Amino acid sequence: MFHHLHGGQHQSVQGSISQEDLEAILQFVGVQRFLTPMQWLEKLDSDRLDPEDLCLTFDDGLLCQFDIALPLLEKYRLNAFWFVYSGVFEGQVQLGKLEIYRAFRCQYFPTIDDFYTVFFGRVFDAGFGETTSEVVTEARIRQMISVFPFYSVNDVRFRLVRDLILGRREYELIMDGLIHDRGPSLNELAKGLWMSDEHLKYLTDQGHVVGLHSYSHPTALADLPYAEQREEYQKNYQHILRVCGRPPVAVAHPTNSYNQETIEILAGLGIRFGFRSNMAAANAIGQSNPNPYEMAREDNANIQRMVGASK
Ligand SMILES: [Zn+2]
Repeated sequence: MFHHLHGGQHQSVQGSISQEDLEAILQFVGVQRFLTPMQWLEKLDSDRLDPEDLCLTFDDGLLCQFDIALPLLEKYRLNAFWFVYSGVFEGQVQLGKLEIYRAFRCQYFPTIDDFYTVFFGRVFDAGFGETTSEVVTEARIRQMISVFPFYSVNDVRFRLVRDLILGRREYELIMDGLIHDRGPSLNELAKGLWMSDEHLKYLTDQGHVVGLHSYSHPTALADLPYAEQREEYQKNYQHILRVCGRPPVAVAHPTNSYNQETIEILAGLGIRFGFRSNMAAANAIGQSNPNPYEMAREDNANIQRMVGASK
């Protein structure tokens, strides 16, 4: 599972890798081990998908993936799954605030910890200090680091405050306030972040597969009522169908958020399988791939560390 790449016009953001890093990862894992999306689907349909089978996935429709990763994939003749949330493709830049905020906190602060200091100050000023100390416990931080070992303690605190305490509305109010105070407009920050419909069409024509990732990339899709979840995926589905000319068959759950209703909605749309965003067990009996809609993925940051350790 890949997200951000840097190089050329694409600045380095937290967790981003270079084209050289990507090449090292591909060679470390073994270029020949990656199935094409078509091979993956064939194996899935005939129930022959093995635990060793791998494929490449890129989330969020980022232009840096197209500019930096794609040339390398073409060099090695590899095809991948590209999971996109459609809102930002249909001009609704404000739906991509998650990404815009990432660009902001990486570009406007000397270090990420400088950002966190300012951010936690605002959270406190907005009256969430007490809830934060109740919810963001040592135990919870340790638990989350065990699932996402590449996060720092501050990274985890930030995500817990954002997702469990503030929720989208309050988080956006705080971030928009910060951005307003520092100067840049959302449109300035959004420039060059995402691909366009033409990029998706090109990928499809080259044998890549574009898949669902919701419409607005909610931070907790599973918390939305059924009708809203359905709308998220219906609009996402229609966009991909229109642009790529074929019905999407795969999903990656945004921020790993889904529930039984989500899976019903996806199955109803004809989606054949879905990816989670980590390798942890997906249920109480410890299965990583309990069914086609909950398949595990390894974050490139973890593979990156294995590459480092092998040197
Ligand atoms: Zn995503």
